[in-house]
Amino acid sequence: MTAHIIDGVALGTAIRHEVAEEAARLKARGLVPGLAVVLIGEDPASRAYVGSKEKACREAGMHSVKITRPAATTEAELLAIVDQLNQDPAIHGILVQLPLPQHINTEKVLHRVDPRKDVDGFHPVNVGKMVSGDPTALRPCTPWGVIQMLLRSGIETRGAHAVVLGRSTIVGKPMASLLIQTGPGGDATVTVCHSKTRDLPAVCRSADILIAAIGKPEFVKRDMVRPGAVVIDVGINRVDDPSLPKGYRLTGDVAYAECVEVASAISPVPGGVGPMTIAMLMANTLQAMQQRT
Ligand code: NDP
Repeated sequence: MTAHIIDGVALGTAIRHEVAEEAARLKARGLVPGLAVVLIGEDPASRAYVGSKEKACREAGMHSVKITRPAATTEAELLAIVDQLNQDPAIHGILVQLPLPQHINTEKVLHRVDPRKDVDGFHPVNVGKMVSGDPTALRPCTPWGVIQMLLRSGIETRGAHAVVLGRSTIVGKPMASLLIQTGPGGDATVTVCHSKTRDLPAVCRSADILIAAIGKPEFVKRDMVRPGAVVIDVGINRVDDPSLPKGYRLTGDVAYAECVEVASAISPVPGGVGPMTIAMLMANTLQAMQQRT
């Protein structure tokens, strides 16, 4: 069996077009959704992510503000930036790019963002709303993107056994929470695995839908995938490759070449969950604005 390849670029582009159409309708009423992205420090990966978010914003016809500050920025200075953006009526979504420098308390900064502008979905108010099934929740972009990926690929989650590999606050936990919600894209029976899980390969093999988010290159091997299962690879790992001009290549948490032969559907890296994450950031910014007007 060769798996159906879930094309995150095409699905993400479709969502971005839908957002752009809605943004154009709003513009006719004099309303423009605005996203502010705050980048502290010079981490090249973070700069690249911020660059693509800004580009996506422009393409969707949204107002975009990028605030960059050096790594030596103090916590108080960053909190003051967040306060200012919280007050700015042209800004409907605020994203503070992670990771932050070590001297800054990430939790304190994320909790300072007005929950109504928390397009990352990390504020406890939005986490609470998501867990309790409140549709006004702003949901974390990556797991929300995975749900959209499953929905738009016609993959049935209802009654399926979904195994989530990883229990981080930004991916694994919200992923599990979304999958157990009632309704389309939910109603799954979910198992969450982590570094203390016993006999991980056997748990993975019991999955109808296996979602890997552990940050270990090509960790999921062919013998961990039940024939016919759906495999979603959230991982983005840089692996040294001197044969390439950049000196590295990007790979997921799934050994793609071998798993593609047993899965019924699989998302690649790159070109899978990554583009969905950016698309959901645009969708969340639009949602944040619509909930204010
Ligand atoms: P974290 O490092 O925060 O969490 C990793 C999780 O995996 C932890 O729960 C950890 O368990 C678990 N884990 C690690 N090693 C093992 C192992 N050997 N066996 C079982 N469980 C293990 O990572 P993130 O959730 O932030 O990110 C995961 C991956 O997703 C990364 O590759 C990241 O780059 C990628 N990512 C991709 C995004 C996208 O847009 N596509 C967005 C965000 C992340 P424990 O809790 O016990 O330590």
